[in-house]
Amino acid sequence: MKNDLPKLLQAISFAAKKHVKQKRKGANQEPYINHPLEVLNVLANVGKIEDYDVLIAAVLHDTIEDTETTKEEISERFGLKVSEYVLEVTDDKSLPKAERKQLQIEHAPHLSNGAKYIKLADKISNIRDVSENPPGDWSNERRLEYISWGEKVIAGLRGVNANLERLFDETVSKARRKFEQS
Ligand code: NDP
Ligand code: ZN
Repeated sequence: MKNDLPKLLQAISFAAKKHVKQKRKGANQEPYINHPLEVLNVLANVGKIEDYDVLIAAVLHDTIEDTETTKEEISERFGLKVSEYVLEVTDDKSLPKAERKQLQIEHAPHLSNGAKYIKLADKISNIRDVSENPPGDWSNERRLEYISWGEKVIAGLRGVNANLERLFDETVSKARRKFEQS
């Protein structure tokens, strides 16, 4: 879909309301909405993504997984394509965590390009958080495990957007350097 700023703004407002009671897990307890907004910002300004279905899905990417939101609710408001992207990046929360993490690695090569862009920006944002604003109770070992897992997911979807992939690699290197110094 081409430029649809009003719908993107509607999605930002929708996501902000859905995530209103949630905070990120980092010690500074940032409002959750900062994360979908960072994913959007990275896609637009680094990935140079201009497809509004992808940008809108990016803002909504954690609503089905983390709030009381259904695929139907998203498709009615924002269209079928957007709801399909969101579903592609939604984990099945009925599965055990280890299995969910393994499935992300296995599914990555089969995602649509739009979902691959969102995955890249999501992992950039989360690895930044793990490095700069980690959950207070995470050991260095757990943080490094998270980064290694993120690298495995992204290894399966490379070749879609050089700018996003470069930023992902820089974010991982920076995070690893920080651990080596600590
Ligand atoms: P979680 O899945 O519990 O947390 C990571 C997710 O939380 C991110 O993907 C992100 O998802 C969200 N998130 C919100 N705020 C932050 C933040 N500030 N920093 C980073 N992520 C944030 O953790 P794990 O990925 O570690 O998954 C649990 C696994 O870890 C289990 O499989 C278990 O086996 C293992 N484990 C390891 C331990 C160890 O010490 N090595 C200890 C305990 C468990 P989103 O994009 O959806 O916001
Ligand atoms: Zn996310």
